[in-house]
Amino acid sequence: MKAAAFDYVKPASIDQVLALLQEHGDDARLLAGGQTLMATLNMRLSEPQLLIDITGIESLRGISVQDNVLRIGALATHTDIELSALVARHAPLLKTAAPHIAHRAIRNSGTWGGSIAYADPAAEWPACLLALGGTVIARGPKGERRIAADDFFTGLYSTALQPDELLIASEIPLAGADHWFGFSELARRHGDYAIVGLAATARREGAVLRNLRIVLMGVDATPVRTRQTETLLEGKALDLATVTQAVASLRSEIDPPPDLTNTPQTKRHLAGVLLQRMLPTAASA
Ligand SMILES: Cc1cc2nc3c(=O)[nH]c(=O)nc-3n(C[C@H](O)[C@H](O)[C@H](O)COP(=O)(O)OP(=O)(O)OC[C@H]3O[C@@H](n4cnc5c(N)ncnc54)[C@H](O)[C@@H]3O)c2cc1C
Repeated sequence: MKAAAFDYVKPASIDQVLALLQEHGDDARLLAGGQTLMATLNMRLSEPQLLIDITGIESLRGISVQDNVLRIGALATHTDIELSALVARHAPLLKTAAPHIAHRAIRNSGTWGGSIAYADPAAEWPACLLALGGTVIARGPKGERRIAADDFFTGLYSTALQPDELLIASEIPLAGADHWFGFSELARRHGDYAIVGLAATARREGAVLRNLRIVLMGVDATPVRTRQTETLLEGKALDLATVTQAVASLRSEIDPPPDLTNTPQTKRHLAGVLLQRMLPTAASA
């Protein structure tokens, strides 16, 4: 299919984007890497009258360390993140997760901001942002605001971003020397969206983990923290009995919907398998 006709504009500043969003409201869509939007236009799942191409706004690019956070601009591509030395040092979870996103051609165009704003529950970046305890920076007509990842993903493809706001960047706390993370996912073929995925972070204290954030993707309408299991593991030695208990806990606190090929039972089982494989890496590292 072909997209319905639309007008196209490529503003050079954030203020121009915000003015266009105010003027056109729901008749306008932002275009970043286009790796999701173009498909929805071509399938006529979305028929905006105006596409606002934000790729000309240089201030939305870049990855930097500012004070005590890693700042990832909305237009940083998946490949920029995958290859960034700053990301590797300060948020290694993202470097590990990046190769699981689609294929190189898509990673070269698709952006951090597009992925976070689109909020696919099976996507890697939303789950990682949540596991890292990051923040979204949004700018709208009333100025800039920061939204914690815990409050950002509100429903299926829905976020706390208002229609007149632009996601401009995210901030992620810098990983300390005691940082532990894990990432794993199961997909039918490499590059497919995950059937189930798991992103986790914690602070290592001797042989135990503290401040765990365990996030599953592909098991609900949003990426989900498994808070009961986080609490169960807090400060515990990761022996076989604890890991077995944690796996049972994780399975009990999710209620995954089926997808085209997997039942809820399969997804629940696979989520437990991912945790069972991951926890021993924390004990042995
Ligand atoms: C074949 C294929 C396989 C894929 N596999 C995966 C995968 O395994 N994992 C995965 O995570 N993704 C996957 N993707 C999606 C890909 O990662 C997209 O790049 C990403 O989801 C959207 O980023 P984008 O920059 O392309 O956004 P666009 O497609 O340009 O936009 C997506 C949506 O976000 C909005 N938007 C974009 N930028 C902003 C902003 N700064 N502020 C507010 N709203 C904004 C747009 O208006 C639009 O509604 C796949 C895509 C394809 C085509």
